[in-house]
Amino acid sequence: MTVSEQCAKFIEKSPTAFHAVAQMKARLVAEGYSELFEKDHWNLVPEGKYFVTRGGSALAAFVLPKKWTGFHIIASHSDSPMFKLKEQPEMEAEKSYIRLNVEKYGGMLMAPWLDRPLSIAGRIFTEDRNSGTLCEHLVDLEEDACLIPNLAIHMNRDANNGYAYNAQKDLLPLYALADQKTSLMKRIAAKAGVEEGDILGSDLFVYNRTAPSIWGEHREFISAPRLDDLECAFASLEGFLKGKKREKCSIHIVFDNEEVGSGTKQGASATFLVDLLQRIEKSMGRDYEDYVIDLEHSFMLSADNAHAVHPNVPEKADPVNRPVIGGGVVLKFNANQKYCTDGESAAMFRQLAKKAKVKTQVFTNRSDVAGGSTLGNLSTLRVPMRTADIGLAQLAMHSPYETAGNADLAAMVKLFTTFFA
Ligand code: ZN
Repeated sequence: MTVSEQCAKFIEKSPTAFHAVAQMKARLVAEGYSELFEKDHWNLVPEGKYFVTRGGSALAAFVLPKKWTGFHIIASHSDSPMFKLKEQPEMEAEKSYIRLNVEKYGGMLMAPWLDRPLSIAGRIFTEDRNSGTLCEHLVDLEEDACLIPNLAIHMNRDANNGYAYNAQKDLLPLYALADQKTSLMKRIAAKAGVEEGDILGSDLFVYNRTAPSIWGEHREFISAPRLDDLECAFASLEGFLKGKKREKCSIHIVFDNEEVGSGTKQGASATFLVDLLQRIEKSMGRDYEDYVIDLEHSFMLSADNAHAVHPNVPEKADPVNRPVIGGGVVLKFNANQKYCTDGESAAMFRQLAKKAKVKTQVFTNRSDVAGGSTLGNLSTLRVPMRTADIGLAQLAMHSPYETAGNADLAAMVKLFTTFFA
């Protein structure tokens, strides 16, 4: 299997951030990593292999070095824009249709969500009847379950001249006909092997069911849902597992909620990374001053996908720095520090790329375009270490079906493997 085929498989099995973390957990357990829990005291040993999760949707895996020399970290994110089901999701229309009441999660391109098979996945919580403790169940309907139909061109002749979607009116998925009794939550419960009445809480999302595709005359492209940022999360884990991890404390960390500003306990603005670093330091017998010194000997790559120049709309890109699919790993700069790359971290990144023998290219916004942001600058507020913002060039960012390049993904894995060597 090629790297892209493996990535496509990982993405297909990761309809939500919870599933992406479960996939990574399974892989780490298979590779001999021990799970730690934030609620326990940790007794770590040199050369030990561990992972820990927070909120069910953020994960950090790490290996302790024999001799202490600081941290090497790759950060990415597990979430993507999609629709979240509201409580009591079924809504009737025209006494004939059942629709699902959803709200937008993240800054999505809305039009591409219409007229394609969608399904529902996420997690539910039930109470254990004996102990009274809460149990988390991941759930995925794994079949075409709903669809957001477009309005016919005949009913809006201006449809092709731009349309302002109303999220409460235009984007509600059709779920069933109303002539029979329906219960989505009953269906969800059955899929999880529990009773509907036992569900005490849920985080359920509508996701795109379209399978990933590897295509192009020379099979140079990969198109898939959630490439931003599962492609980087996948590459980070691959590099982490393949790298020899001898010198520094190597950390693969994936945060949730980047698409909604990272301001949650499992997001990059919270303490997940700093708590982890300080607990590692403490278990290695190092004090706070040692920790501050160690940050000076550390480096972080914040990996989140980047915009490739669009073949049909090339004028939206910067006149000089124009990343393309197939051009190599992208290094991102922004004067206003939406990306935290500076001259020094750029130089460190380029040294690494030279060592790994991978091509690189640069992304900057046009000076008259605000552009996006990512998690790097938020992480460095908590953990002030040298950081470069990087990513893979892709088209249609925040569409439910995005496109990137196979050679770039392979280059990213090679770069990360070298970083963790
Ligand atoms: Zn992203």
